[in-house]
Amino acid sequence: MAGTREQEAARSVFVTGGNRGIGLAIARRFAAAGDRVAVTYRGDGPPADANLLAVRCDVTDAGQVEQAFKEAEAAHGPVTVLVANAGITLDRLLLRMSEEDFTSVVDTNLTGAFRVARRAMRGMLGQGHGRIVLISSTAALHGAAGQTNYAAAKAGLVGFARSLTHELGPRDITCNVVAPGLTETDMSHALTDEQRQRLLDLTPAGRPAHPDEVADAVVFLVGAGYVRGAVIPVDGGAGLGH
Ligand code: NDP
Repeated sequence: MAGTREQEAARSVFVTGGNRGIGLAIARRFAAAGDRVAVTYRGDGPPADANLLAVRCDVTDAGQVEQAFKEAEAAHGPVTVLVANAGITLDRLLLRMSEEDFTSVVDTNLTGAFRVARRAMRGMLGQGHGRIVLISSTAALHGAAGQTNYAAAKAGLVGFARSLTHELGPRDITCNVVAPGLTETDMSHALTDEQRQRLLDLTPAGRPAHPDEVADAVVFLVGAGYVRGAVIPVDGGAGLGH
C-alpha cells in the first residue's frame, strides 16, 4: 500500500466505543481507507483486529481520556478525526428513574463526548484541521418512552455541535452529528420483540440499519468540510420531517 493516495493522506482517527457495534464498523471503514485508527475499549477487551490500535478508556473518566489520547497520538500523531460514539441506555419510565440512572446516561453519552472533543481540540487547533462526528440517535429528535435520560443526552449533542460550530468559525475544523435509527448491534438486540416491532413500524425502510450504513454517513461528514453543525439522520426514513 506504500505510496498510494490513501497512505499519503492517512489521518489519525480516534473512535470511542470502537471495540464493537457501530463504532467498530466506523473504525474498520477508516482503517480500510488507509487511515491510522485508534479505538477505545473497556471491560470486554480490545477488538480482534490487527489494523486497529486499541486503547483502554472509559469516557466518564477524564484521566483515562487523557491517557488514551496520549497513547493514540504517540502512535499515530495528533488526532484529526474524532468519532464520539460511546453510548449506553438505561431505559425506565420517568417515575421509576433514579437520579443515578439519569446522570450516568448523560455522563457517558453527552459529557463523555464533551471530554473527548475538548481533548481532541488541542491537536486539531495545532494542525489547523479537524473533523468531529458525534453519534446521536433519532431518540434525540422524536423522544421515546422510557428514554428521557438517553434522549436528553443525545439531544444535548446537537446543541453541543452547533455551539462548537459557532466557536470554530472559519477554521477548517467541523463538528457534526449523525442520528441513527434502529441499528443491528448488541444495543438493539437488548430490545424486546414488541419494542423492536414498534420501531420498525415507524421506519419506511422496514428494516434496521446495518452498522456499515451509519459508517457511510460518518465518512461523508469527514470528507465534507463545508457541512457544519448538521444532523444527518440514518434511520430508514423514521424521522421524516425532523
Ligand atoms: P453497543 O452497545 O453495541 O456498543 C456501545 C459501545 O460504547 C461499546 O463499544 C461500549 O464499550 C462503548 N461504551 C459504553 N459506555 C462507555 C464508556 N463509559 N466509556 C467508553 N466506552 C463506552 O452500541 P451501538 O454500537 O449500537 O451504539 C453506538 C452508538 O450509537 C451509541 O452512542 C448509541 O447510543 C448510538 N445509537 C445506537 C442505535 C442502535 O439501534 N444500535 C440507534 C441510535 C444510536 P464496552 O464494550 O466497553 O461496553
